[in-house]
Amino acid sequence: MKVEIRERGKKERRHAYVVFAAKDDSNVLSGLPEDAQAALMGAVPASFGSDGTSFTTPLPSDSPALRLYAFGTGKSLTITPRKARTLLRSVAKLLEKNGETTVLLDLPFSLERMNPAEGREFLLRHLFLSNYSFTRYKTGEAKEKKTELTSVRLSALRGLWTGVSEKDAEREVRDAEIVAAASALVRDLGNTPSNDLLPRHFAGHAAAEVKKRARKNLTVTVLDKQAIEKEKMGGLLAVNRGATEEPRFVVIQYMGGRKGQKPVALVGKGVTFDSGGISIKPAEKMGEMKWDMMGAATVLGIVLAASDLGLPVNLVGLTPLTENMPSGSAYKPGDIVTFRSGKTAEIDNTDAEGRVILADALDYAKTFNPEVVLDYATLTGAAVVALGFEAGALFSESDELAAGIVSAGERTDDRIWRLPLWDEYKENIKSDWADVKNTGGRWGGAINGAMFLKEFAPEGALWAHLDIAPTANYDREYAGYATGATGYGIALTLRWLRDRLALAGSSKN
Ligand SMILES: [Zn+2]
Repeated sequence: MKVEIRERGKKERRHAYVVFAAKDDSNVLSGLPEDAQAALMGAVPASFGSDGTSFTTPLPSDSPALRLYAFGTGKSLTITPRKARTLLRSVAKLLEKNGETTVLLDLPFSLERMNPAEGREFLLRHLFLSNYSFTRYKTGEAKEKKTELTSVRLSALRGLWTGVSEKDAEREVRDAEIVAAASALVRDLGNTPSNDLLPRHFAGHAAAEVKKRARKNLTVTVLDKQAIEKEKMGGLLAVNRGATEEPRFVVIQYMGGRKGQKPVALVGKGVTFDSGGISIKPAEKMGEMKWDMMGAATVLGIVLAASDLGLPVNLVGLTPLTENMPSGSAYKPGDIVTFRSGKTAEIDNTDAEGRVILADALDYAKTFNPEVVLDYATLTGAAVVALGFEAGALFSESDELAAGIVSAGERTDDRIWRLPLWDEYKENIKSDWADVKNTGGRWGGAINGAMFLKEFAPEGALWAHLDIAPTANYDREYAGYATGATGYGIALTLRWLRDRLALAGSSKN
């Protein structure tokens, strides 16, 4: 999809002209661009502007488009980000169903919780993602290509774009397109079935994405099983024991910042399929466990997007990758695992494997002497029990880091909510036989997982754990997201990195 923001050409006529109206405008037409007002005078249904309503009408021959599509936003044009995303998706679906390909779009919204620049970024990103679908495995009739939105032109100088120069607007469009492309890649990786996304496939995709870019400051190293053994990553190797497929550990580095500046390390759980292992999961919904690598995909997406945006930051992405399978060689409940750090853990439940592979990855992060370590993992069902589908769970001992991440989440609609990491919880993961145990009983499951990771977080670095199980993927269309992976965490992290740069810049003055 091509998106432009500029005054429309005089002669050009588009297929569809899309406008939005709020019901509480004393004159509901007054919020619309003038040419749309004129075309609609006396032609609008009584419900025009009410939340969820829409109507279509042909336009006269001197209009900028063949047909007008009007959508209602309810009481106000100041709406929640979620509502904006949902509207953009339903608009894209309706237009594509009707065979429209070129669109003139008027976006008069303001977004709650976001300043104008953040709002523009959000709207553009979700405009690019509005017609996302994953159809790689459809064939024949199902494959038949639907029409696709190819060109969207936004009305210049309206809504959040009021007062923005054409040049700035163009740059923002380009940036949003980069982040949307990273999100689409991450969604594709997540939605790919696990038979085609084995650890070696994931590593191959990461390597290909880096190679394609051919940039000196963007590099990738893939550790194979032998190299992982050499690193003594006992946790990753233990979880991998039940699988026929070998593990991988991908290190992707983007050095866009000052030379010698400590990097931010991003660690992502990459369990490409999680059967639970010997502590096997129930059959129902087990297929969803193809998404248990969303942490790793998120990390890859963040590093690639930061590089594509040219952010002046140093990033190291670390993704341990394995399947978790039951077999005669699988690791078992009661086993004791020795990690890269030398610490030991009793395996109480082989389905709590994410923390077991992350323990080694967090420890490995030490070798890069990072300033901050963030880890992303679809770690616990308990996080979903606690927060539903509306927010990820955040854990950090640093109030400042936590506040920065929560704020970045609010301003990108990748919302996240902090839960405690108090020492008292350590009691839950005590083991009679080893340093720690990989489960902590029934209560506070998301916290127990975080407490386990805390044991391995590099000393001397700030650390936060993002349990993205609630928001990484949905099993149906939800909140304006297509079924499947969402790309949650990418926009949040890029926002946080930019906030950090802004802060560092201002403290220098
Ligand atoms: Zn598991």
